[in-house]
Amino acid sequence: MMKAVLLKNGTVLHPDGRLDREDVLLDEGKIQKIGQIALRPHMDVLDVEGGLILPGMIDPHVHFREPGFIAKEGIENGSRAAVKGGVTTVFDMPNTDPPCDTPEAFEAKERLFKEKSRVHWGLHYMATPDMRDIPERAVSVKIFMARSSSRSAWNREEALLPMFRKARRVAIHAEDETCFTQETRHHLRRPRQAIRMALETIRRTLILLPESERPRVVICHASTLEDVQWLADMKTRGFDVWGETAPHYLWFTREEEEYFGARYQVNPPLREVADRDAVRQALRDGIVDFIGTDHAPHTAAEKESDHPPSGIPGIEWAVPAILELAEQRELPWSRITRLISTGAVDCYGLSGYHGIQAGSTADLVILKKDGNPGPVITRAGYNPYKHISLTYTVNTVFIEGKVVYSENKFFTPHKGKELFGAFTG
Ligand SMILES: [Zn+2]
Repeated sequence: MMKAVLLKNGTVLHPDGRLDREDVLLDEGKIQKIGQIALRPHMDVLDVEGGLILPGMIDPHVHFREPGFIAKEGIENGSRAAVKGGVTTVFDMPNTDPPCDTPEAFEAKERLFKEKSRVHWGLHYMATPDMRDIPERAVSVKIFMARSSSRSAWNREEALLPMFRKARRVAIHAEDETCFTQETRHHLRRPRQAIRMALETIRRTLILLPESERPRVVICHASTLEDVQWLADMKTRGFDVWGETAPHYLWFTREEEEYFGARYQVNPPLREVADRDAVRQALRDGIVDFIGTDHAPHTAAEKESDHPPSGIPGIEWAVPAILELAEQRELPWSRITRLISTGAVDCYGLSGYHGIQAGSTADLVILKKDGNPGPVITRAGYNPYKHISLTYTVNTVFIEGKVVYSENKFFTPHKGKELFGAFTG
């Protein structure tokens, strides 16, 4: 039988933002108790002096590129990078090859994740014109309003409407490709008008439906003033809309892309300081509900080519990059648990995750200051946060009460399991 684990001398981040030096007892895959706890014979003790104890991140937006593009990442490697970044659950996007757009493709991808993923996982399903049965374990139906992979885009109400009727939860890449231009600079080729138009189409489509037939809508990677204003407005009006953003929109602007080049080319594009600041403010205000990394690696050769694809690796630095905002007083500590875990939990209807509290699943991460981040794991091969000094490093990661990573060492075998929420809405 596995022994209980007593974490001594760490600092616990409570969901309300309090930071207290307390012991944490893990047993049977859950957090059993927090407080002053005496060591008993059935416990192993782990001294985590100087460590900050947080829930493992639930990252609802990753591209692990498998099947089809294993040279860019793959599930095994991507989930290692996840662990190193303090991420214990990922939801993978469906724009693989083949795309995850039939029940058969969904089941085939489930088998791959079952076999290879070190972290818990769930799968988004791809919207198609002839979509019939949505697998009940799909975490959402993903709608790309700009083309991604060979599948067609959805940028009109007539196209969105049947999707919205069929799906209970949709995650949308909200950029209307009909607004794209022939400009050479990336942020002008995909102007902010594309976001404005897409959001307007989503709003009009929602209004066409009676309230009972409207799906929950997740706006993926909110990156502009326009996204933030739309989310604030729609929430005020009582629509079931949720905002996700990605760490790169919180840390970078198009200055990074102009200075460092295509490694910072992402969709939607990085924009102005005012956009970055608006998204940061939206995290403080609760207008943006959670953070997904949109981890989207490409190979160095692809990024150095004449037509580099868009996407940036992020998962490997996810929790340290988010904590840095708290460290720099850009975010209150009281927002962190929500943004890295319980926001996505509520949106996607997961159970068993309430932050660092008794009764929560013991998926947690211990961070320390001035640690050694170790070599880059993602096949993208670079750390986009290199020019920003991140105070914290992931030191140890627990999944269901077991250490799966500590000080740059992975402990195997560990397999994640599939998480999906009930559609309780
Ligand atoms: Zn994405």
